[in-house]
Amino acid sequence: MPKTPEHVIRDEIQALAGYRVPDASGMVKLDAMENPYRLPEEVRRRIAAVVADAEINRYPDFGAAPLRETLREALEIPQHAELLLGNGSDEIIQILMLATARPGAVVLGLEPSFVMFRLIAAFCGVRYVGVPLGDRFALDVDRTLGAIKQHQPPLIFVTYPNNPTGNLFDTAAIERILKAAPGLVVLDEAYHAFAGRTFMDRLGEYSNLLVMRTLSKLGLAGLRLGLLAGGAEWLRQLEKIRLPYNVGVLTQLVAREALQHRSLLEEQAAAIRAERSRLQRELANVPGTRPYPSDANFILFKTTDADRAFNGLRDRGVLIKNFHGAHPALEGCLRVTVGTPSENDRFLEALRAALA
Ligand code: PMP
Repeated sequence: MPKTPEHVIRDEIQALAGYRVPDASGMVKLDAMENPYRLPEEVRRRIAAVVADAEINRYPDFGAAPLRETLREALEIPQHAELLLGNGSDEIIQILMLATARPGAVVLGLEPSFVMFRLIAAFCGVRYVGVPLGDRFALDVDRTLGAIKQHQPPLIFVTYPNNPTGNLFDTAAIERILKAAPGLVVLDEAYHAFAGRTFMDRLGEYSNLLVMRTLSKLGLAGLRLGLLAGGAEWLRQLEKIRLPYNVGVLTQLVAREALQHRSLLEEQAAAIRAERSRLQRELANVPGTRPYPSDANFILFKTTDADRAFNGLRDRGVLIKNFHGAHPALEGCLRVTVGTPSENDRFLEALRAALA
């Protein structure tokens, strides 16, 4: 066999485009659902002191008990639930798929949704089936229950709210999925800080429910810390797949320190929610543009010419995400992350100019 990538790398990996992150240097960065606000100088100093003291010559705390305690309190995780920590929630998605990927198994998700579900499924050699969402991106319960019956998935992902559409699905619809599922249902609550609704307090009600969260959208994207909460019997198994020391010394320490100031992060989330409302109203007034409702820190909107809007924004120094061509339901759609008031103004001005 020739020693070339074509002969050595799995076909399905060769076929992947891979996750792409465009260069945003010097631009107004509204493409990745980051919190645009930094922590105040005084808190950053405290973080610096904690980092200066960190024993980076040692491996991280394997069990990360102090961090888990902080997370439990900060995220109101029920006492009876167990926790799994990941290097971002991306890693937790991978752990879940690796754990459940029996040969021939299907992982079920919704379409359109977060692209990493499909990509990670390919990494793990598992088949991913995306059930199309219905009208205005609502969960199509009959179709989803049909797919559950047909594929008997050991693992189902429900994004709550969904990315890139921004909406929360109907609670009753999710309850029906939880009851019908033959295995785990993971509620991906990455955008919880902007949604005001959660399944975290219902973990005791459904034995097959797991709730996934991340600190990324809350203002700590650079730390890479995600978590999964649920029944100890499940998490004990998943824990075996977690690579040793997947959450670094600095992430553990800085997350703990930052979460001591979580009221600041919550105030930032409230400011983002307020700006989201304004951005919604203003976007609705841009000719040829229609925003979808959002319970997240981004807004999906449809325009008459998405490529022109995207390129025009980029040429004016504003980076958002273009979904036109990514999925039939996203024709003409773009997604903008809610930024600071001045960033949002620059975005709106550039969009008006791009579409003029
Ligand atoms: N889930 C959803 C729905 C997301 O949109 C994202 C990030 N865009 C993630 C999970 C992953 O987040 P992270 O790895 O930063 O925790």
